[in-house]
Amino acid sequence: MEERPISPISFHQYLNEEKLMGSKCKKCGKLYAPPRPICISCRGTEMEWAPLKGKGKLVTYTCIHVGPPWMVEQGYDREHPYCSGVVDLEEGVKIDARLEGVNASKPESIKLGIPLTVQFLHRGEGEKMQTFLAFKPA
Ligand SMILES: [Zn+2]
Repeated sequence: MEERPISPISFHQYLNEEKLMGSKCKKCGKLYAPPRPICISCRGTEMEWAPLKGKGKLVTYTCIHVGPPWMVEQGYDREHPYCSGVVDLEEGVKIDARLEGVNASKPESIKLGIPLTVQFLHRGEGEKMQTFLAFKPA
């Protein structure tokens, strides 16, 4: 397997392939998701890709009624809100992601600590395909 540089572009390429990848410091072992090219813990620059299982628990969330333009383009608005949250992954790192499979119109129905599993949301086709990281109740 070719080695990809540790960058947001590579991270998104992996998402297109339905892989959730973090980066791990070869020196101190600290894990980052999304990946960082430099370890902020020990300043190490030797990082390697670390596949993540995509399982975790919901730490916090927010439901958004007036989103940024790219979300409005996807059909989200006041009547169709969406949620984003922070997921505490089994590997011990926290990552921001969209929340799917929850009732965004009834945020009080969403419980903190629920087990979540990764979901890859593909938008667009071919060269223009973008994949958004999301999690849904496991
Ligand atoms: Zn380190």
